[in-house]
Parts: sequence; C-alpha cells; structure tokens
Amino acid sequence: MQGLMMDRQLTITSIMEHADNNHPNAEIVSVTCDSPRHRYTYADAFRRTRRLANALIGYGVRPGDRVATFAWNDYRHFELYYGIAGVGAVTHTVNPRLFPDQITYIVNHAEDRLVFVDPLIVPALEKIKDDLPCVEAYIILTDDDNMPDTGLKNAQSYESFIGSQPDRIDWPELDEKTACCLCYTSGTTGNPKGVLYHHRSMVLHTLIGISTDCFDLSVRDVVMPVVPMFHVNAWGLAYGAPVAGTKLVFPGPKMGDGATLQALIEEEQVTYSAGVPTVWLNLLKYLDETGKQVGTLRRVVIGGSACPRSIMEEFEERHGVYVNHAWGMTEMSPLGTFNTLKPEMQKLSREEQFAIREKQGRALYGVEMKIVDDENNELPWDGQSTGLLKVRGPFICSDYYNTGVPSDVHDGDGWFSTGDVGSIDAEGYLQITDRSKDVIKSGGEWISSIDLENTAVGHPDVAEAAVIGVPHPKWSERPLLIIVRKEGSEVTGEAILDWLRDKVAKWWLPDDVVFVDEIPHTATGKIQKTELRKRFSGSE
Ligand code: AMP
Repeated sequence: MQGLMMDRQLTITSIMEHADNNHPNAEIVSVTCDSPRHRYTYADAFRRTRRLANALIGYGVRPGDRVATFAWNDYRHFELYYGIAGVGAVTHTVNPRLFPDQITYIVNHAEDRLVFVDPLIVPALEKIKDDLPCVEAYIILTDDDNMPDTGLKNAQSYESFIGSQPDRIDWPELDEKTACCLCYTSGTTGNPKGVLYHHRSMVLHTLIGISTDCFDLSVRDVVMPVVPMFHVNAWGLAYGAPVAGTKLVFPGPKMGDGATLQALIEEEQVTYSAGVPTVWLNLLKYLDETGKQVGTLRRVVIGGSACPRSIMEEFEERHGVYVNHAWGMTEMSPLGTFNTLKPEMQKLSREEQFAIREKQGRALYGVEMKIVDDENNELPWDGQSTGLLKVRGPFICSDYYNTGVPSDVHDGDGWFSTGDVGSIDAEGYLQITDRSKDVIKSGGEWISSIDLENTAVGHPDVAEAAVIGVPHPKWSERPLLIIVRKEGSEVTGEAILDWLRDKVAKWWLPDDVVFVDEIPHTATGKIQKTELRKRFSGSE
C-alpha cells in the first residue's frame, strides 16, 4: 500500500523560498574584493538571485549546462549557488588553488560554458584561457567601477550581468534528482574526478547537517564558514543557514587571515564556525600574539584532516570554545561522521573524554558504514580491528561524472570504498588511522601515521608534522617523522623522540626525525605524502 503524502520535490529552490518567506531579515555579511564589509539580508540576496536567474536564462543557459565559479566565500557566490541550481543548471565550484593543468583539465572535462570569477583569481585564469575553448564568457564578480583590465573572453562585471533584470521569476518545477552542483576531488594520483550532487541529496544532507548532534544551527546562531564554498559546498553551511535562519558571515578572500577572522567574530557576534585544522592555527596564533578575544564564539567544527588534540585544548582552555571533530569526503557531500559525546560519557574524566573526542565521531543518519579486511569480510566494531572503510547512503556518490568507465571504488552491492583505513568502537565511534595508500606496515603490524603526527604536533616546538613509511630490511617499513619547527625553535630530533616515548607504543617510535622548512600540501590543505615519499624514501 502506498502512503498518501504530497509529492513535493526536495530542491534547493525550496530552501531559498523557505528562507525568503521565513527569515527575510536574517543578515549576510561579507568581505569582498570591492567591499571590506558588505551587508544585506536574505530577502535582498534572493531578490538579486532572481535577477541572476533571469540573466542566466537570457544568456541562454539551459538545464543541465555547467556553469563554473572561481570564488571565495561571499554574498555573490551565495547568489550563484541558488541562481544556477534554481534554473536547473549545475554550479561547478572550482578550487582556485589547484595547479593550472588540473584547472584546465577540470573546466574542459566539465565543459563549463560560463565562468564566474573573483577579480583576485582573474590573473590565474588569464594564463590558461587559451586552453579553455569551451568557455564562452567570463563574468567578473564585481561592479563596473572595480572591473580589472582583462583579456578574458567576453568579460563583463557581475553587476552589469544581472543589471536591470526583473527580480520576479517563476522558478521551474525541478525533479529532485536533477543535478545541481559539481565538485572535483583533488586526488593525489590521476586526473581529478567529478562528484555530481543532485537537489535531493543536497537537501537531505542539509537537514542532517543542521541537526542537534551535528552542526546544531539555529535562528539564534551566527555562523562563519571558514571552509571554502569552492570545496564541497562549504560542508553544506550555505544551505543549512537559510533553512535554520542563521545569520551568515563570509570572510571572502581573507579566510586564512587571523586578524580578519577575529574582527569578524567580535564585530558580527559569530557563535559558530567550521574549517580544516590549518586555518585555525592562523587564528590561534593571532590571538596568542595580540591577546585579543573571540568572546561570542561558542563552537568550532574541525575536519578535512585529523584534528590534533593540541588545537582542541587551546581553543577550549584559552578561549572557551568547544571543538567537535568531524570526518567526511567530497564523495559524501561531505559529512560522514561527527563527534559528540553520549550522555553517560559526560561523567568520564577529561582524559577519557579526549580519548573519545579525538576520534572522528559517529555516523550521521543517512550514512551506513563498515570496515572490511583484504578479502572484503566485515570486521567487528571493537575499537581494535582495523580495515578499509566503506560507506553507503543517499548523499554519497554512486559514480563519478562522465569518466566513460564504471567506478572501480564502488562494490556491486553499492558500497563506496573511501580509501580510508580505521577502526570503529562498540559505541560506534570511527577512528581513522590512515589513507590506505599511506599506511605504514612494520613487522606485519600497522602504525597510524595520523596518531604519530597528532602526538608530535602537541610538542610545544613543533609547527607541523608528517609521518611516512620508509623501506627497512628487517621490518619492511619503519616510520620517518618529518617536522617543521616553530619559528625560532632549535629543538632536536632526540628531544622530540624523548617526548614521544611515553605517549606512543614503543615499536611505533620513529627511527629518525628530519627537519624541513615546509611540508607540501594539496590544494585542499592535506599533507602531500606522495611528494614526501619521493623526497625521503625514493618511492611514491
Ligand atoms: P576531500 O574529499 O578532499 O574532502 O578529502 C576527504 C579525505 O580527507 C578523507 O577521505 C580523509 O582521508 C580525509 N579526512 C577528512 N576528514 C578527516 C578527519 N577528521 N580525520 C582524518 N582524515 C580526514
């Protein structure tokens, strides 16, 4: 028997209309290239979004067309998120920090017709414009007064593009499985692969994302996404905030600038933020140097890479900010697990709580997960057994966009192989120990490079740490610890090993420590271990 419920489609358009009707006066504050503090309301944003949609239709953008954005977190990017998807086209967010040949590959593979680009990113696109034949025109995210002098094809300012378009539109009734956005994963090997989200997956991910044991967003919050809108939709915050009616604060091109983040938090009363571990180091350093405060900030979500305990402690003990650790992937929209403590855990000692809170957390509703051995046998949730992590769910990709061959990381029974290795304890808390290609196997036993790195980063003289396996005649592999010292420090390798000695298993202790000025990172801020292996172990 079928139920008798209305068949209303779950679309991004419905998020926009909900916010427009119910939270018209909630504010959106942005730092942009042409304004140090732009301020308007959701009602203003969606009025302009309707003008943008009319401009896109007038230009000839058709349902299914890919439209690229090269943009920071700001109000115009927010309008693009809704305007492009609203007309049935696909918002292709591109990470401007990728290498030029990766950007060229991605834009051509997606066959982007229009490119919306921030003025600061224009010079990078000018260098590769001749290799992007599919792009018909570039819309620069500014007004005519601030237009840069550019040789980009058919360049026009965003403000003139939306110009005098009407601010009324009859949004098309979209099927909820219509594609709405596209984001390429920045794999360390091979070409990037496109993850194509649909309206339904985005709405479901948004609803789970704002729920109490996840982002817990409300109309009383002020959220500042420090995770970029060009990488996995700012973890869904640009959709979650309008559903909840939350004021949005966008740091624009100043995401990595501690002074701007502190000023925005204090002046805009930010209660909530989210980002990868490295961005918080800039803010914490700035607070440390200036003695300034982040008084209104209540919670920060950290993910994208393992969050070192030292960051959690510094936030909490010095600034009263609670940190939640989260894990996810581009392929998962991206939220997979989120760490909150269960009620009975509140009674545990601080040490016992941290042992749980350092883990990546429990699966969100909509994410099924399991760990398997080399023969694909499911392993128990005992906190000890370690295996490859597989996931399944309605906001997890079923294949990659237009590769011409079926994905080799999806099972016949629909599970997606994350490439992460970890354990799950009896309470359901996932602990990631490594990427499968980064695991260190020494004498037949696994050593977690993530654990070693996070412990090393807790040393007061260590700015950043990476651990890779290097070949060893007896043990097959041994860990090598690579360290960036804090400015002015002359700490020795021996001192660091001494410090690690009572904190990790004896046989995990790295055989050697090397010091470098800088550790290479991918465009999404992850340590580039392939480069380190090339340099220090002669392999990839
Ligand atoms: P991306 O698709 O670029 O966002 O990268 C996803 C990958 O980042 C995951 O497969 C993990 O390897 C890593 N990752 C994300 N969050 C965490 C976390 N909290 N701890 C450890 N690794 C993480």
